[in-house]
Amino acid sequence: MRLQGKTALITGGNSGIGLATARLFVAEGARVAITGRNKTTLDAAAKELGHNLLAFRADVLDSKARELIFKEIKDEFGHLDIVFANAGIGQFGSIAETSEEQFDEVLRTNLTGVFLTIKSALPLLRTGASIVLNGSIAEYIGAPSGAGCYAASKGGMHSMSRAMAAELSPLGIRINVVAPGPIKTPIMERHQMPPEQSAAVVQTLESSVPLGRRGEAEEVAKVVLFLASDDSSYVTASEIVVDGGITGAMFGAPVYGRAF
Ligand code: NDP
Repeated sequence: MRLQGKTALITGGNSGIGLATARLFVAEGARVAITGRNKTTLDAAAKELGHNLLAFRADVLDSKARELIFKEIKDEFGHLDIVFANAGIGQFGSIAETSEEQFDEVLRTNLTGVFLTIKSALPLLRTGASIVLNGSIAEYIGAPSGAGCYAASKGGMHSMSRAMAAELSPLGIRINVVAPGPIKTPIMERHQMPPEQSAAVVQTLESSVPLGRRGEAEEVAKVVLFLASDDSSYVTASEIVVDGGITGAMFGAPVYGRAF
Protein backbone atom coordinates (compact mmCIF):
# COMPACT_ATOMS: atom_id res chain seq x y z
CA MET A 1 0.00 0.00 0.00
CA ARG A 2 1.52 3.26 -1.17
CA LEU A 3 -0.09 5.63 1.36
CA GLN A 4 -0.01 3.44 4.46
CA GLY A 5 -0.15 5.63 7.58
CA LYS A 6 -0.52 8.87 5.58
CA THR A 7 -3.17 11.52 6.00
CA ALA A 8 -4.74 13.47 3.14
CA LEU A 9 -7.14 16.31 2.46
CA ILE A 10 -9.09 16.38 -0.81
CA THR A 11 -11.23 19.44 -1.56
CA GLY A 12 -14.25 18.54 -3.69
CA GLY A 13 -13.85 14.92 -2.61
CA ASN A 14 -17.55 14.13 -2.91
CA SER A 15 -17.75 13.98 -6.72
CA GLY A 16 -15.88 13.11 -9.92
CA ILE A 17 -12.08 13.13 -9.82
CA GLY A 18 -11.95 14.06 -6.11
CA LEU A 19 -14.16 11.14 -5.11
CA ALA A 20 -12.24 8.67 -7.30
CA THR A 21 -9.04 9.90 -5.66
CA ALA A 22 -10.52 9.57 -2.15
CA ARG A 23 -11.46 5.95 -2.94
CA LEU A 24 -7.96 5.19 -4.24
CA PHE A 25 -6.19 6.92 -1.32
CA VAL A 26 -8.26 4.97 1.23
CA ALA A 27 -7.57 1.72 -0.67
CA GLU A 28 -3.85 2.59 -0.51
CA GLY A 29 -3.96 2.93 3.28
CA ALA A 30 -4.49 6.67 3.84
CA ARG A 31 -6.85 8.40 6.23
CA VAL A 32 -8.64 11.00 4.15
CA ALA A 33 -10.61 14.17 4.85
CA ILE A 34 -12.86 15.40 2.05
CA THR A 35 -14.75 18.65 1.63
CA GLY A 36 -17.66 19.62 -0.57
CA ARG A 37 -20.93 21.53 -0.53
CA ASN A 38 -23.48 18.85 -1.35
CA LYS A 39 -24.59 17.06 1.83
CA THR A 40 -26.10 14.08 0.00
CA THR A 41 -22.92 13.18 -1.89
CA LEU A 42 -20.74 13.91 1.16
CA ASP A 43 -22.86 11.53 3.28
CA ALA A 44 -22.74 8.88 0.54
CA ALA A 45 -18.92 9.10 0.37
CA ALA A 46 -18.65 8.90 4.16
CA LYS A 47 -20.91 5.83 4.19
CA GLU A 48 -18.99 4.13 1.39
CA LEU A 49 -15.47 4.80 2.68
CA GLY A 50 -16.17 4.24 6.38
CA HIS A 51 -13.95 5.09 9.31
CA ASN A 52 -10.94 6.10 7.19
CA LEU A 53 -12.85 9.08 5.81
CA LEU A 54 -13.83 12.39 7.40
CA ALA A 55 -16.37 14.40 5.39
CA PHE A 56 -16.82 18.15 5.88
CA ARG A 57 -19.52 20.28 4.33
CA ALA A 58 -17.86 23.55 3.37
CA ASP A 59 -17.36 26.01 0.58
CA VAL A 60 -13.64 26.46 -0.22
CA LEU A 61 -14.17 30.22 0.05
CA ASP A 62 -15.80 30.15 3.49
CA SER A 63 -13.01 31.19 5.85
CA LYS A 64 -14.96 30.38 9.04
CA ALA A 65 -15.70 26.85 7.80
CA ARG A 66 -12.07 26.42 6.71
CA GLU A 67 -10.86 27.37 10.17
CA LEU A 68 -13.12 24.76 11.78
CA ILE A 69 -12.16 22.06 9.29
CA PHE A 70 -8.43 22.50 9.76
CA LYS A 71 -8.88 22.52 13.53
CA GLU A 72 -10.78 19.25 13.33
CA ILE A 73 -8.22 17.72 10.94
CA LYS A 74 -5.49 18.70 13.41
CA ASP A 75 -7.42 17.12 16.27
CA GLU A 76 -8.14 13.91 14.30
CA PHE A 77 -4.99 13.46 12.18
CA GLY A 78 -2.39 15.63 13.94
CA HIS A 79 -0.83 16.63 10.60
CA LEU A 80 -1.36 16.31 6.84
CA ASP A 81 0.93 14.45 4.42
CA ILE A 82 -1.09 15.19 1.28
CA VAL A 83 -3.32 18.00 0.04
CA PHE A 84 -5.20 17.53 -3.24
CA ALA A 85 -6.66 20.96 -4.07
CA ASN A 86 -9.23 19.68 -6.51
CA ALA A 87 -12.48 21.61 -5.97
CA GLY A 88 -13.34 23.61 -9.04
CA ILE A 89 -16.07 24.78 -11.35
CA GLY A 90 -16.32 25.14 -15.12
CA GLN A 91 -17.81 27.95 -17.12
CA PHE A 92 -19.11 27.80 -20.66
CA GLY A 93 -20.20 30.86 -22.60
CA SER A 94 -18.87 33.49 -24.91
CA ILE A 95 -17.22 36.70 -23.71
CA ALA A 96 -20.49 38.52 -24.27
CA GLU A 97 -22.49 35.95 -22.32
CA THR A 98 -20.19 35.91 -19.29
CA SER A 99 -21.03 38.35 -16.54
CA GLU A 100 -18.49 39.97 -14.25
CA GLU A 101 -20.01 37.95 -11.38
CA GLN A 102 -19.52 34.66 -13.25
CA PHE A 103 -15.94 35.58 -14.15
CA ASP A 104 -15.19 36.42 -10.52
CA GLU A 105 -16.86 33.24 -9.24
CA VAL A 106 -14.65 31.03 -11.41
CA LEU A 107 -11.46 32.89 -10.47
CA ARG A 108 -12.40 32.93 -6.79
CA THR A 109 -13.25 29.21 -6.68
CA ASN A 110 -10.52 27.78 -8.91
CA LEU A 111 -7.63 30.08 -8.00
CA THR A 112 -8.28 31.96 -4.75
CA GLY A 113 -9.87 28.82 -3.25
CA VAL A 114 -6.72 26.81 -4.00
CA PHE A 115 -4.48 29.51 -2.53
CA LEU A 116 -6.56 29.69 0.66
CA THR A 117 -6.64 25.90 1.01
CA ILE A 118 -2.85 25.70 0.79
CA LYS A 119 -2.40 28.66 3.14
CA SER A 120 -4.63 27.02 5.76
CA ALA A 121 -3.01 23.60 5.33
CA LEU A 122 0.56 24.83 5.61
CA PRO A 123 0.84 24.70 9.42
CA LEU A 124 -0.17 21.01 9.26
CA LEU A 125 2.30 20.05 6.52
CA ARG A 126 5.71 18.67 7.41
CA THR A 127 8.83 17.58 5.55
CA GLY A 128 7.93 15.01 2.89
CA ALA A 129 4.43 16.39 2.36
CA SER A 130 2.99 16.61 -1.15
CA ILE A 131 0.50 19.12 -2.56
CA VAL A 132 -1.26 18.29 -5.82
CA LEU A 133 -3.37 20.85 -7.71
CA ASN A 134 -6.03 19.95 -10.25
CA GLY A 135 -5.28 22.06 -13.31
CA SER A 136 -6.58 21.60 -16.84
CA ILE A 137 -5.39 21.50 -20.42
CA ALA A 138 -7.77 24.47 -20.89
CA GLU A 139 -4.69 26.43 -19.86
CA TYR A 140 -3.12 25.54 -23.24
CA ILE A 141 -5.99 24.97 -25.63
CA GLY A 142 -8.23 27.86 -26.59
CA ALA A 143 -11.92 26.97 -26.86
CA PRO A 144 -14.37 29.40 -28.45
CA SER A 145 -17.05 28.96 -25.79
CA GLY A 146 -14.76 29.06 -22.82
CA ALA A 147 -15.09 32.73 -21.83
CA GLY A 148 -11.46 32.66 -20.79
CA CYS A 149 -12.10 32.70 -17.05
CA TYR A 150 -11.73 28.93 -16.65
CA ALA A 151 -8.50 28.90 -18.69
CA ALA A 152 -7.22 31.91 -16.76
CA SER A 153 -7.99 30.27 -13.41
CA LYS A 154 -6.13 27.09 -14.33
CA GLY A 155 -3.20 28.95 -15.93
CA GLY A 156 -2.96 31.15 -12.85
CA MET A 157 -2.99 28.11 -10.63
CA HIS A 158 -0.16 26.51 -12.60
CA SER A 159 1.98 29.68 -12.39
CA MET A 160 1.21 29.96 -8.68
CA SER A 161 2.32 26.35 -8.14
CA ARG A 162 5.81 27.08 -9.46
CA ALA A 163 6.25 30.09 -7.15
CA MET A 164 4.97 28.00 -4.26
CA ALA A 165 7.34 25.15 -5.13
CA ALA A 166 10.27 27.54 -4.89
CA GLU A 167 9.06 28.76 -1.50
CA LEU A 168 8.21 25.32 -0.10
CA SER A 169 11.09 23.19 -1.35
CA PRO A 170 13.44 24.30 1.49
CA LEU A 171 10.78 22.88 3.83
CA GLY A 172 10.81 19.55 1.97
CA ILE A 173 7.26 20.10 0.72
CA ARG A 174 6.55 19.28 -2.94
CA ILE A 175 3.82 20.80 -5.13
CA ASN A 176 2.75 19.59 -8.56
CA VAL A 177 -0.17 19.90 -10.95
CA VAL A 178 -2.21 17.23 -12.70
CA ALA A 179 -3.77 18.65 -15.87
CA PRO A 180 -6.70 16.55 -17.12
CA GLY A 181 -8.27 16.68 -20.56
CA PRO A 182 -11.94 15.70 -20.98
CA ILE A 183 -12.88 13.36 -18.13
CA LYS A 184 -16.27 11.71 -17.51
CA THR A 185 -17.51 13.44 -14.35
CA PRO A 186 -20.65 15.37 -13.36
CA ILE A 187 -18.92 18.69 -14.21
CA MET A 188 -20.71 19.04 -17.55
CA GLU A 189 -24.13 18.05 -16.19
CA ARG A 190 -23.92 21.03 -13.87
CA HIS A 191 -24.44 23.33 -16.86
CA GLN A 192 -27.86 21.86 -17.68
CA MET A 193 -27.36 21.74 -21.43
CA PRO A 194 -30.18 20.25 -23.48
CA PRO A 195 -29.40 16.49 -23.95
CA GLU A 196 -28.83 16.84 -27.71
CA GLN A 197 -26.33 19.69 -27.17
CA SER A 198 -24.56 17.72 -24.47
CA ALA A 199 -24.35 14.63 -26.74
CA ALA A 200 -22.92 16.81 -29.55
CA VAL A 201 -20.28 18.28 -27.20
CA VAL A 202 -19.27 14.80 -26.04
CA GLN A 203 -19.02 13.52 -29.61
CA THR A 204 -16.91 16.49 -30.69
CA LEU A 205 -14.68 16.14 -27.65
CA GLU A 206 -14.14 12.41 -28.17
CA SER A 207 -13.29 12.82 -31.84
CA SER A 208 -10.60 15.33 -30.90
CA VAL A 209 -8.80 12.97 -28.51
CA PRO A 210 -6.01 10.87 -30.08
CA LEU A 211 -6.98 7.97 -27.79
CA GLY A 212 -10.54 8.36 -29.10
CA ARG A 213 -12.43 8.64 -25.84
CA ARG A 214 -12.92 10.72 -22.71
CA GLY A 215 -10.90 9.68 -19.67
CA GLU A 216 -12.23 8.11 -16.50
CA ALA A 217 -11.91 9.86 -13.14
CA GLU A 218 -9.93 6.82 -11.91
CA GLU A 219 -7.30 7.40 -14.63
CA VAL A 220 -6.64 10.87 -13.19
CA ALA A 221 -6.73 9.55 -9.62
CA LYS A 222 -3.88 7.13 -10.39
CA VAL A 223 -1.68 10.03 -11.52
CA VAL A 224 -2.63 12.03 -8.42
CA LEU A 225 -1.63 8.98 -6.35
CA PHE A 226 1.82 8.99 -8.01
CA LEU A 227 2.29 12.71 -7.29
CA ALA A 228 0.97 12.36 -3.73
CA SER A 229 3.08 9.34 -2.83
CA ASP A 230 6.79 8.98 -2.16
CA ASP A 231 7.11 7.38 -5.64
CA SER A 232 7.45 10.98 -6.91
CA SER A 233 9.86 12.08 -4.16
CA TYR A 234 12.12 14.00 -6.61
CA VAL A 235 9.27 15.64 -8.53
CA THR A 236 8.23 19.19 -7.70
CA ALA A 237 7.08 22.24 -9.69
CA SER A 238 5.98 19.81 -12.42
CA GLU A 239 2.79 19.12 -14.28
CA ILE A 240 1.50 15.81 -15.61
CA VAL A 241 -0.99 16.08 -18.45
CA VAL A 242 -3.67 13.35 -18.50
CA ASP A 243 -5.50 14.09 -21.74
CA GLY A 244 -5.40 11.09 -24.08
CA GLY A 245 -2.85 12.92 -26.21
CA ILE A 246 -4.76 16.13 -27.03
CA THR A 247 -2.01 18.62 -26.25
CA GLY A 248 0.94 16.54 -27.44
CA ALA A 249 -0.43 14.65 -30.43
CA MET A 250 -3.39 16.68 -31.67
CA PHE A 251 -3.19 15.44 -35.28
CA GLY A 252 -3.55 11.84 -34.16
CA ALA A 253 -7.17 12.54 -33.21
CA PRO A 254 -9.96 10.74 -35.14
CA VAL A 255 -11.31 14.12 -36.34
CA TYR A 256 -8.21 14.57 -38.54
CA GLY A 257 -8.51 11.13 -40.12
CA ARG A 258 -5.39 10.46 -42.19
CA ALA A 259 -5.01 14.07 -43.30
CA PHE A 260 -1.48 14.28 -41.92
P1 NDP B 1 -17.23 17.59 -10.41
O1 NDP B 1 -18.22 18.64 -10.75
O2 NDP B 1 -17.67 16.18 -10.33
O3 NDP B 1 -16.49 17.95 -9.04
C1 NDP B 1 -16.23 19.24 -8.62
C2 NDP B 1 -16.00 19.19 -7.12
O4 NDP B 1 -15.63 20.48 -6.66
C3 NDP B 1 -17.26 18.78 -6.36
O5 NDP B 1 -16.91 17.92 -5.32
C4 NDP B 1 -17.77 20.10 -5.82
O6 NDP B 1 -18.48 19.96 -4.61
C5 NDP B 1 -16.46 20.82 -5.56
N1 NDP B 1 -16.62 22.25 -5.49
C6 NDP B 1 -16.87 23.12 -6.50
N2 NDP B 1 -16.93 24.36 -6.04
C7 NDP B 1 -16.72 24.29 -4.71
C8 NDP B 1 -16.68 25.24 -3.66
N3 NDP B 1 -16.87 26.55 -3.87
N4 NDP B 1 -16.43 24.80 -2.40
C9 NDP B 1 -16.24 23.48 -2.16
N5 NDP B 1 -16.28 22.54 -3.10
C10 NDP B 1 -16.53 22.94 -4.36
O7 NDP B 1 -16.12 17.75 -11.53
P2 NDP B 1 -14.65 17.16 -11.72
O8 NDP B 1 -14.40 16.00 -10.84
O9 NDP B 1 -14.52 17.01 -13.17
O10 NDP B 1 -13.79 18.42 -11.27
C11 NDP B 1 -12.73 18.35 -10.33
C12 NDP B 1 -11.61 19.24 -10.79
O11 NDP B 1 -11.09 18.72 -12.01
C13 NDP B 1 -12.01 20.69 -11.06
O12 NDP B 1 -11.05 21.56 -10.52
C14 NDP B 1 -12.00 20.77 -12.58
O13 NDP B 1 -11.71 22.07 -13.05
C15 NDP B 1 -10.88 19.79 -12.91
N6 NDP B 1 -10.92 19.32 -14.29
C16 NDP B 1 -11.93 18.53 -14.74
C17 NDP B 1 -11.97 18.11 -16.06
C18 NDP B 1 -13.05 17.25 -16.61
O14 NDP B 1 -13.13 17.08 -17.84
N7 NDP B 1 -13.91 16.65 -15.80
C19 NDP B 1 -10.91 18.53 -17.01
C20 NDP B 1 -9.88 19.35 -16.42
C21 NDP B 1 -9.90 19.71 -15.11
P3 NDP B 1 -20.12 19.95 -4.61
O15 NDP B 1 -20.52 18.83 -5.54
O16 NDP B 1 -20.45 19.65 -3.19
O17 NDP B 1 -20.54 21.29 -5.09
